[in-house]
Amino acid sequence: MSKLAAVIGQPVAHSRSPAIHNAAFAALGLPWVYLAFEVAPGRVPQAVRGMRALAGFDGMSVTFPHKQAAAKEVDGLSPDALALGVVNTVVRDADGRLRGECTDGDGLVASLRESGFEPAGRRCCVVGAGGSSRSIVRSLARARAAEVVVVNRTRESAIRACAFAGPVGRVGDEDDLSAADLVVHATPVGMRGGPEGLPFDAARLRPDQLVVDLVYDPPDTPLLGAARARGSTAVNGLGMLVHQAAIQFRLWTSEPAPLDAMWAAARS
Ligand code: NAP
Repeated sequence: MSKLAAVIGQPVAHSRSPAIHNAAFAALGLPWVYLAFEVAPGRVPQAVRGMRALAGFDGMSVTFPHKQAAAKEVDGLSPDALALGVVNTVVRDADGRLRGECTDGDGLVASLRESGFEPAGRRCCVVGAGGSSRSIVRSLARARAAEVVVVNRTRESAIRACAFAGPVGRVGDEDDLSAADLVVHATPVGMRGGPEGLPFDAARLRPDQLVVDLVYDPPDTPLLGAARARGSTAVNGLGMLVHQAAIQFRLWTSEPAPLDAMWAAARS
């Protein structure tokens, strides 16, 4: 029987997830199809009920602005989804129950490792304290980072975010950027349609740092340009998108994700 997976969000017309997942299903010859559904705020309960009712609708991705709402509609939560209070992935278990997962932070860590950066023992600085930051902070700490410093314009949010790193987490400021081995930028500054400019003074960056901007549309941002000018290694957020999708793919199909096909689709 054919199976369906889909992303729900608003807007989702721009989403690269259908291309990435359909390429993965095709690469392994799996009888799955992945669609994108616009779901208005307030309609997430109906969307999840629809998945529950439709046999074969076995995978759901959840994106902005529905991650918190989806966490309230599933039958159970993974430890990450429970701790973070958000769901970006819904899996139908063998008994039919819908389980919520959050693959964002582990997707970022997997993309770091693919690019040759092992977080264990390294000093990490995360700029921004929203949903993606919290997931990344938790995953970096689990990957045994030496410290995870959160820098954010609103201190209260930074305090909440760095708590997800446990004892290796602390709130910092721009002065902490220079000492970090890894700088992850997790605000919408530089995103298409988002605030323009730089999220912090790029003179703080050093040549031996890895700088990741979670923004991938546009693929090159003012921050990535400034980081390259400082001699840092600069990468955008496409790797996180591909690797969080790879984790979803494994959760839904129990097959290893065909990363080459997923990367090719993400870049096209
Ligand atoms: P979010 O939950 O809305 O959090 C936004 C964060 O950015 C908050 O900490 C906010 O600070 C800060 N911020 C917003 N506007 C700012 C500004 N003008 N100057 C300084 N700080 C500002 O957003 P999110 O879901 O974490 O997403 C953050 C970014 O990551 C977005 O660009 C999103 O597209 C990207 N993202 C990428 C992926 C991927 O797969 N690559 C996945 C998820 C998200 P306050 O706390 O002060 O409000």
